[in-house]
Amino acid sequence: MTKVSIVKCENYEHDNVKKAIKKSLDFIGGLPKFVKPNDTVLLKVNAIIGFPPERAATTHPAVVRAMAELVKEVEGIPLVGDSSGAYGFTGQSLEMCGLRKAAEDAGAGVVNFESTGTYSVNVDGRVVKTLNIAKPAIDCDVLVSMPKLKTHQLTKFTGAVKNFYGVIPGTGKAVIHKMAPSEESLSQAVVDIYSALKPALAVMDGIVGMEGEGATNGTPVESKVIISGADCVALDAVASEVIGFFHKDIMTTRFAHERGFGVGMLDEIEVIGEKIEDVRLDFKKSKYIVYKFPDFVRKFMFGFAENVSIVEISEDDCKKCRICVESCPASAITLESHPFIDQKKCIKCYCCHELCRNGAVKLKTSFLGRQILKRLNYKS
Ligand code: SF4
Ligand code: SF4
Repeated sequence: MTKVSIVKCENYEHDNVKKAIKKSLDFIGGLPKFVKPNDTVLLKVNAIIGFPPERAATTHPAVVRAMAELVKEVEGIPLVGDSSGAYGFTGQSLEMCGLRKAAEDAGAGVVNFESTGTYSVNVDGRVVKTLNIAKPAIDCDVLVSMPKLKTHQLTKFTGAVKNFYGVIPGTGKAVIHKMAPSEESLSQAVVDIYSALKPALAVMDGIVGMEGEGATNGTPVESKVIISGADCVALDAVASEVIGFFHKDIMTTRFAHERGFGVGMLDEIEVIGEKIEDVRLDFKKSKYIVYKFPDFVRKFMFGFAENVSIVEISEDDCKKCRICVESCPASAITLESHPFIDQKKCIKCYCCHELCRNGAVKLKTSFLGRQILKRLNYKS
């Protein structure tokens, strides 16, 4: 049976974190089972945005430092890598979320996927057939997903599987978003990416998670767990239940399970350490409503449903940094005289909302949209 371990960890104090990670890895067979001497071990962290660790948008540096030290103790060669959500900002993100320093403190290398080059990889994907994947994710001997425990506005939850969206550097992310603007299509695209990789292990930072408007604009919540497993899909099934979601509602988990890339059904997973019910929290879901409409309603309404929640830029808050402009897959944003989003071009992918560091991109839900949700008896 696939094993996933849950270990309590009260805070980000270095010794506590290291002990908790070690214990969680021991529960699933111990790190030497996964890392042999001289193996290059890529810790694929979440450095989506240049926020400080307290914002809980990125993998905490204490978790990454402890994991890199543990890798060194079994004579592996740790590397810490990612590409940020916005093209051209990975170096800044790694710096600002403390991950560069964490890697350096542990004696690990740092890899910015924007400058490592990519391999073109063909996959039997539902959305994408060819992917440009950062070379270190393919070249490493051991690939480790190190996600943050978070909600997500479009996919509801983001964990060990979705963490690999970052192996697509440059403008590739925006291109995939354009091809896959809905919860269902984006989840399939995430699984397409996952299908090209061979992760050996996942260690999730759930000491402080994020509820509400994740993956970057939510609220930090003390969740006090480290979750580990060899199967990223199984880890996600467990982690989503830990924050009060139903694991079968998470499409990345469901599709990865259905397509044979892991075990996403809770009754096929052995949970070791803490029981889910003993650490379970009730994370708030995103208020953003598009994904809450059943597919048949969305289809029936010919796109109307998507227009009841729109994004707008507050001119007062906008610093004209251009991150949203560079990241918008639909080229819908202009800043010339004043910040403007062309709603006809906008595909509602919410990248701009996710990546704006100044909170200038606002989500607006119309009165009518709220009434429709009431009728559908949706409870947030
Ligand atoms: S909306 Fe945000 S990301 Fe876009 S230009 Fe303004 S400050 Fe930058
Ligand atoms: S304007 Fe924002 S939500 Fe619309 S397509 Fe561009 S990035 Fe996505």
